[in-house]
Amino acid sequence: MTSSAYGSTLPWAEPSWYTGHPSPYYKESHRRLRDFMRKWCEKYTLPYTEEWAEAGAVPASLYHECAKAGLLVPIASGKSIPKEWSHYPIVAGIKPEEWDGFHDFVLWDELIRGGGIVSLFIGLTVGAPPLLKFANQQLQDKIFPEILTGEKRICLAVTEPAAGSDVRSITTTAEKTPDGKHYVVNGEKKWITNGFQSDYFMTTVRTGGPGVNGISMLLIPRSEGLKTRPLPVITGPLAATTFVTFEDVKVPVEYLIGKEGHGFRQTMINFNHERLWVAFQGIRGCRTAIHDAFQWALKREAFDKKLIEQPVVRNKFGNMGRQIESLQAWTEQIIYELENLSDADGARLLGGTTALLKVETGMVSKYVAEECLKIMGGSLGLTKTGQGSRIEAFYRSVPSLLVPGGSEDVLIDLGVREALKLHLQAENAKSRL
Ligand SMILES: Cc1cc2nc3c(=O)[nH]c(=O)nc-3n(C[C@H](O)[C@H](O)[C@H](O)COP(=O)(O)OP(=O)(O)OC[C@H]3O[C@@H](n4cnc5c(N)ncnc54)[C@H](O)[C@@H]3O)c2cc1C
Repeated sequence: MTSSAYGSTLPWAEPSWYTGHPSPYYKESHRRLRDFMRKWCEKYTLPYTEEWAEAGAVPASLYHECAKAGLLVPIASGKSIPKEWSHYPIVAGIKPEEWDGFHDFVLWDELIRGGGIVSLFIGLTVGAPPLLKFANQQLQDKIFPEILTGEKRICLAVTEPAAGSDVRSITTTAEKTPDGKHYVVNGEKKWITNGFQSDYFMTTVRTGGPGVNGISMLLIPRSEGLKTRPLPVITGPLAATTFVTFEDVKVPVEYLIGKEGHGFRQTMINFNHERLWVAFQGIRGCRTAIHDAFQWALKREAFDKKLIEQPVVRNKFGNMGRQIESLQAWTEQIIYELENLSDADGARLLGGTTALLKVETGMVSKYVAEECLKIMGGSLGLTKTGQGSRIEAFYRSVPSLLVPGGSEDVLIDLGVREALKLHLQAENAKSRL
């Protein structure tokens, strides 16, 4: 028995559980969240996407609307919401103890379909988790009320002009003052999403000598000596990409995240959710593109036939369909495994797998964006407005799935090294029996 379809019934335009197919992962609260988010986006975001892209900004008032709707709490916490946060609004009335990784997936999936505002939350979703996982309680108690109510914003500042993939070589320094009460920060960070909109910068700094053991994480409040300027990128101004400079910025030592020298490990752990979340972006981006291309192929005529009547065009859809469903299934499998492992085991066992999932997302997205663009033809596929506009925007956004959070080439290698490490550990464990 299957229930009735939700959303579009065009092939692969929605996940199969939306179209009534059974799934072990999604329950009543996931459906409630999906319904809430779709209606919310149809009211607050979808009608304005083109207007915001043209204006180059999303109105600040919308961020407060997001806080009121209970979006910020789950976005800041990822797969599980602390029970101490139950007094904040939580989207669709879901309780912290109910929230799981599949709610996280549904929330992002619908937000991404809602277009235009996803980049508003990137700083929050990558910048807040280290505060939650590693910061002392006093700092959490001070900062979270500000960022969960939307009063202030946070971003993650790791990358530097001369240190991207190779986080070990960052050079931004944080030196203690002689009285031991402050760090003084000097350096530059580049490509920081939401930087110019942020009040807090979750920053990797060098507190010790060279190498990974000299790296720490410091939460830097916007203050004297901290400057930001927007950096134009291919996806347009809504990406909110930023260059940040620190010139003798004084930060109280209480803003250290975890211990000195632990910053590299904390940064690597933080990447795992970021990479999973890139898969969320790619999956819905592909589905939206396939939806729009399908609609077009069903009505456009060329050589006396509808496009969909051309076997070559059907072949494109078949190839897109098999890839997107495989990507969805692998993503769900990883979410399920993370749900059923401790945080430590999740990071240990799935760091490499999540890196490879991100790579696969980039490859599938590249393929789907290009095939959909071809189906739309030059007239629509390359035009920023009209029926091909979502495909044109998705095509431009693909590079931002490939590089941030770890470049494709680096992550493939990481995936193999991690898999081999687990193999050797398993063999050693066997030999000890
Ligand atoms: C739109 C956007 C948003 C971003 N947002 C943020 C943010 O919010 N916060 C933040 O800290 N950073 C952010 N970044 C930075 C992003 O994480 C880095 O761009 C990324 O880590 C790669 O670093 P890089 O660009 O310096 O490339 P490099 O490290 O210079 O690498 C360039 C290329 O060299 C090759 N390469 C390098 N090393 C290896 C290797 N070991 N093996 C094989 N090939 C290799 C790869 O092909 C790689 O793509 C963002 C970037 C973009 C484009």
